[in-house]
Amino acid sequence: MTSEQLKPHARGRAGALRTAAGAVTPVTGARITGGLLRQWQERNRRATIPHTIGRLRAAGNVDNLSRLLADDPPPYRGRYPFLDTDLYKTLEGLAYEIGDGHADDAAEEFFDEVVGLLERVQAEDGYLNSFFQDPAAAKKPWEDLAWGHELYNLGHLIQAAVAAARRMGDDRLLGIAVRFADLVVRRYGEGREEAVCGHPEVEMALVELYRETGDPAYLTQARLFVDRRGRGTIKHSIFPPDYFQDHVPLREMPSVTGHAVRMAYLAAGAADVHLETGDQELFAALDRLWDDMVATKLYITGGLGARHSDEAIGDRYELPSERSYSETCAAIATMQWAWRMFLGTGGAKYLDVFERVLFNAYAVGLSAEGTAFFYDNPLQRRPDHEQRSGAETGGEPLRRSWFGCPCCPPNIVRWMAQLGDYVAAERDGTLYLATYTEATIETASLAVSVETDYPWDGEVRVTVDRAPDGPYALALRVPGWARAATATVNGEGVEVSGEWLVVERVWTAGDEVRLTLPMPVRAHGSHPYLDATRGAAGLARGPLVYCVEQQDVPASVDDLVLSAPRIVSANISRSERELPGAVVLRVTAGVAPPPSPELYPELTGEPLAEPSAPEEVPATFVPYFLWGNRNAEAMRVWVRTQ
Ligand SMILES: [Zn+2]
Repeated sequence: MTSEQLKPHARGRAGALRTAAGAVTPVTGARITGGLLRQWQERNRRATIPHTIGRLRAAGNVDNLSRLLADDPPPYRGRYPFLDTDLYKTLEGLAYEIGDGHADDAAEEFFDEVVGLLERVQAEDGYLNSFFQDPAAAKKPWEDLAWGHELYNLGHLIQAAVAAARRMGDDRLLGIAVRFADLVVRRYGEGREEAVCGHPEVEMALVELYRETGDPAYLTQARLFVDRRGRGTIKHSIFPPDYFQDHVPLREMPSVTGHAVRMAYLAAGAADVHLETGDQELFAALDRLWDDMVATKLYITGGLGARHSDEAIGDRYELPSERSYSETCAAIATMQWAWRMFLGTGGAKYLDVFERVLFNAYAVGLSAEGTAFFYDNPLQRRPDHEQRSGAETGGEPLRRSWFGCPCCPPNIVRWMAQLGDYVAAERDGTLYLATYTEATIETASLAVSVETDYPWDGEVRVTVDRAPDGPYALALRVPGWARAATATVNGEGVEVSGEWLVVERVWTAGDEVRLTLPMPVRAHGSHPYLDATRGAAGLARGPLVYCVEQQDVPASVDDLVLSAPRIVSANISRSERELPGAVVLRVTAGVAPPPSPELYPELTGEPLAEPSAPEEVPATFVPYFLWGNRNAEAMRVWVRTQ
């Protein structure tokens, strides 16, 4: 690890990055104590986790393991050979909850039951996969790395195992994961069979396993998997090599491409390899890919992936609103990548994207009550839209309670449970506040409390609860969207410039830093090459993107016309009516006259019609992440400006 890199906060033992020099820095933690993120975590415990456990049982994910203990196992249930991962992701989330003392008996029993099954089902050589271990399975282990997802399975197993070891002090899963990982190292390690999984994920998991165990073989294996990809080791079928990021090595890739979740997991894993090896060439490639993605391929919501057909990212500026795929898992993967880039550099630009994804592309994937999910996340719903969510046939209105390929719901569960790990980071002598939420943060050096109603409000108050003896720096992130931010230290004004407000001094308990991030309503346009939304306006306030749903405006959302003066004079208020507790924007919008019925009216030869003065209507814009929690009606993020 270079001196530029940061250490994340995680409670428990060995919860830090292992440096390239081999030292582990023990850290304490950050705890989310209030506000929106706290509400999300409580909803996760109260609603999403019980729902997920129930659906995993009903769908057969648990039975798929237990059946292997029978002499004549009943058939595998489900369509995909990676359904164990949905158990692993849930176990990972539960490890945080159990470790923090928040889990109920049912959650603890589920954890113990599944871990017990895994211990009994794991093969003697360490292999573990409930699809392939069935003697009647259509394929044999390791036969089809392109679609078998066995290493992807291992990745999620490792992540659950590391979480359980760190947060619960429970090493049972870690033992299982190590046995499987050792088998993989023996089979695919240096000088062994040159192969990679069709679905990246195991790379970042192996680096975590290295951090947890100290065994460099896992770091080497992660690096091998990163560097082997792009050399045609995957047997391509159905989709071309770029779907698997196997068309060119990552270091030479010109732009993020292919299956969006695979791409972002791969990049996050490669960023982990960089964090531990200091491989600057790898970092340079990742930074180039990151900048290109943010400049040309990311939705305003932070969603990644424009194409439904192969869940792929698409071309530069190919960002259609109603066909935005933006898989919820891709949102999580993008945050994982962003966080690791931040750790590698201290750069706040990555955190700007992190929070954009967190409060928009990620949060929208879960219903307000916490038991229904979007798989794909469009930015527009047309009035006559027929929902075909999750690439399933039939479909149903808006969010669904589960999917045949249920990768997203348990991914949401584990991410909600670990949000506290993304609040702060530390570099020698500096505490970085990365994500604003009401929280308490403790390190070996100091403890602070954060009070804020972010993202609804931009006032952030940081109080020092325990101070170090000597000088220490507090670094408060100034988001890229924030203009005219101001700050005080113990009531005295300090200058705010750049992406971090850094205040270094000898602190005393009770000292207070206040940061004010003004949150006027913003209107965003689109790059001229972004044909789908060129000329339209998207509303945002703070880190939140807004949208308009049909039930909140007495004219068709397709006919609404916004102008900059109307947007700037929007009324900002807490909603009591539409979505209780949310800050909504009330604007006066124009209504365009009925358009020509011709799909492609000729523009030549006729004088262009003068637009008539539009009628005006009141329109309420709601946070995008809360759309679709009432009736399934038309919705738009991007609204006409003429
Ligand atoms: Zn998913």
